[in-house]
Amino acid sequence: MTARVLVVDDVLHNVKLLEAKLRSEYFDVLTAMNGMDALETIEQEKPDIILLDVMMPGMDGFEVCRRVKSNPAVAHIPIIMVTALDQPKDRVMGLEAGADDFLTKPIQDLPLFARVRSLVRLKVLMDELRIRNSTGQAFSAGGEGQSSAAISLEGADVLLIEDYERVANRITGYLQETVGSIDIDGVAGGDLSTEDLGKYDLFIISLSLREVDGLRLCSSIRSSEATRHTPILVIIDEGDHDTLIQAMDLGVTDYVTRPIDGNELVARVKSQIRHKRYADYLRGKMQQNMQMAVTDAVTNLYNRHFLDTHLENVFSSSNEKQANLSMLMLDIDHFKKVNDTYGHTSGDEVLEEFSKRITGNIRSIDLAARYGGEEFIVVMPETDSEFALFIAERLRRTISDEPFVISGSDTPIDVTVSIGVSIVSEGCDTKEKLFSEADKGLYRAKESGRNRVCGITCFDDEKAS
Ligand code: GH3
Ligand code: MG
Ligand code: MG
Repeated sequence: MTARVLVVDDVLHNVKLLEAKLRSEYFDVLTAMNGMDALETIEQEKPDIILLDVMMPGMDGFEVCRRVKSNPAVAHIPIIMVTALDQPKDRVMGLEAGADDFLTKPIQDLPLFARVRSLVRLKVLMDELRIRNSTGQAFSAGGEGQSSAAISLEGADVLLIEDYERVANRITGYLQETVGSIDIDGVAGGDLSTEDLGKYDLFIISLSLREVDGLRLCSSIRSSEATRHTPILVIIDEGDHDTLIQAMDLGVTDYVTRPIDGNELVARVKSQIRHKRYADYLRGKMQQNMQMAVTDAVTNLYNRHFLDTHLENVFSSSNEKQANLSMLMLDIDHFKKVNDTYGHTSGDEVLEEFSKRITGNIRSIDLAARYGGEEFIVVMPETDSEFALFIAERLRRTISDEPFVISGSDTPIDVTVSIGVSIVSEGCDTKEKLFSEADKGLYRAKESGRNRVCGITCFDDEKAS
């Protein structure tokens, strides 16, 4: 995974050193030697990640960070603050200024590559989610997006896996004010499978557990569907590079070393929870957008586009199983008159109520879609013609038996529907034929007086014969 890294430092030697290290790992490197230059490069080049020195004459790193994070065009670019070892407060200040991570000078290779890679991985994911969301928004005209900085950390649930009680208590103390709840698990026997892990916003896992291999826990958390995206912060012994490399390879998102610095832990926990919640928010929005792209806004039924795709699938699966498949085509009678008499808004309300009655009277395997203005389709798998006519007749009565009460009219409105029925059979074996047969039935129903159900024959004829 390669990426473009911008290195910002006012000391040429530092810039050259970091540049060489990063190039040796095949990163593309851009450089800047003061805050103003950095901002310009960021705006123009949109690097994937920024390594930002705190101490610079003129505009310091905190200010650069604040400006980047308040500029919507570049706020999503992760920033790693580079701080002096003897200034622990700087790290926390950096994260508070919106930085995503920090490194201390002198910069060691392993933490450098570990942190850069972890953030690049995160950025790739976030970029993808952001792109899909902007497409979704263009599609559905969904509202304004939220920025990651606006994400609330309130009520976050953390699971701490640490079997030294004293350490666990200390960590709980540090985080008390930051998170909503901390569950502590000593994982006797190393079994997490019984717990509801999906609810957590963050896992903090000691890699020095007495009875259990902490890395194995990380790996199982990563591979489980419910926790695939949940951040993991591990606690590692200072200098244990082998374990750190293994942890990063497993997809662990962040780490702290012992002895744990309380402020650093709090800052890291905050930023992990923020990332997680932002990703959740984007994912949720995406699902909402997808939902909007396949449903009709007035009736909440599936739209024609979805119906076409769905019918394709149902058709092939019915074919495979040699099962029956029926279709109903419904058209509200004299709907134009409803609009003319009560107005278009009332017409919409009738469509809404109509759809509710339909969906309330079909099975969950049946699918109702809005096919056109006041035309609807119901697709019914595993349904023979007799049963299809029976359901259609029930739907017809569901509409006609009870006048529609709507807010736009004092008097309830009488509504009726005509329904055409078709079924997959020897002469009707394609999607198109299923539609055209249902359409013929519908035409027959309209012709013979409306408020009727017709297939090849009409419902009443069926009963008569
Ligand atoms: P028929 O019994 O022959 O089906 O008569 P009809 O009046 O229902 O049929 P026609 O096709 O002549 O008119 C359909 C009407 O449906 C015309 C159109 O304005 C109205 N319509 C279509 N979509 C909507 C909508 O989303 N909201 C409202 N309120 N009316 C709609
Ligand atoms: Mg009509
Ligand atoms: Mg019509």
